Amino acid sequence: MNHVEFSAKLCKGCGYCVKFCPKQIIQMGNVRSAKGYFNPVIEDMSQCIGCLACATVCPEGAIETFKEVEADV
Ligand code: SF4
Ligand code: SF4
Repeated sequence: MNHVEFSAKLCKGCGYCVKFCPKQIIQMGNVRSAKGYFNPVIEDMSQCIGCLACATVCPEGAIETFKEVEADV
C-alpha cells in the first residue's frame, strides 16, 4: 500500500496538500502540533495512488511519500 507521512515538526498547517490531493483523502486534523499548527491526516490510506502531488505542493517539505512497488518475481 502507498503511504504518506506528515512531519509535525515541519508542517505549518497551510492546507495546500488537502487542496491538491486528486483523491481528496487528506483532511486537516483537529489537534494542534507542538508548534501550534493543525496538521493533516489521512484516514483511508488505501485510497492513496502515490501521485506525490501532496509532497510536491508542500512548501515546507513536510511530506514523505512511499509508493508501493510491485515485486518482480
Ligand atoms: S500521494 Fe497523491 S493520492 Fe496520495 S495523499 Fe498525496 S496527493 Fe493524495
Ligand atoms: S502542504 Fe505541507 S505545510 Fe501545508 S498543511 Fe500540508 S503538510 Fe502542512
